[in-house]
Amino acid sequence: MDTGLRGKRAIVCAASRGLGKASAFALAREGAAVVICARGRDVLEGTAREIRSGTGSTIVAVTADLSKRAEVDRLMETAVSALGGLDVLVTNTGGPPSARFESLSDDDWRTAVDSMLMSVVWLSRAAIPEMRRAGGGRIINVTSVSVAQPIEGLVLSNAVRAAVTNLAKTLAIELAADRILVNCVAPGYTSTDRVIELANATAKREGTTPEEVQQRLVNRIPLRRMGTPEEFADAVVFLASDRASYLTGVTLGIDGGYR
Ligand code: NAD
Repeated sequence: MDTGLRGKRAIVCAASRGLGKASAFALAREGAAVVICARGRDVLEGTAREIRSGTGSTIVAVTADLSKRAEVDRLMETAVSALGGLDVLVTNTGGPPSARFESLSDDDWRTAVDSMLMSVVWLSRAAIPEMRRAGGGRIINVTSVSVAQPIEGLVLSNAVRAAVTNLAKTLAIELAADRILVNCVAPGYTSTDRVIELANATAKREGTTPEEVQQRLVNRIPLRRMGTPEEFADAVVFLASDRASYLTGVTLGIDGGYR
């Protein structure tokens, strides 16, 4: 399959590890130049080196906290100037803490909204004029299977990612005339550090083992296993590619059938 991504310019957010890293790797393997971001410099630069040596593509690491407007603005300016423009934006950030509704303060909600929703607003706002200049583009938002069916104990994700989903559907309509296609990718349970950390926390809370918690999750997935970050990244590549030229405003679930 010719993805048409050779020479394209992409930003992948929150990409020092997990789904973001796999997505950046996969886009770079297709020949795209990629800017990756995360908060901590050392791990991010290590990831950039790994992707660069594994793909031969141009990889630029920019540290930024996506929950802070000024840092997102600086990230976008640095990225666009390093890449000489922009064709693909993958929005992504760290997941919210596991908590029940009644334990959450206004500050918890504000942090979640800034991190998961406003980051997408700020990133998209800066990306759109660049994509217009390029004659089109792709915005791909990482959300969660929680947009189809709320996950117990993750109310912040359940509520805020639903907003991102409808933001994307609205932008898909508003930007169609500019050939900017806007979609979401909604991971189900995918074996990343975050899932392992969540399983460890649940096990501690319930006095059981992380293996037992993970097995319980797997039993609810029709394909009877967690996804891999690489399987998730394949969907990102597809949505970024020339092969997805008539797809906009959709959420693609990468979840092994789990809803
Ligand atoms: P992860 O914790 O393994 O990786 C998160 C990445 O985000 C890291 O690179 C981290 O450095 C970066 N990051 C965190 N906060 C940041 C911030 N404020 N600014 C910049 N970078 C930041 O997580 P993951 O499993 O790769 O998941 C990525 C996203 O997908 C998360 O939002 C998660 O909630 C969501 N998700 C994951 C799964 C799954 O099964 N892995 C399922 C549903 C949703």
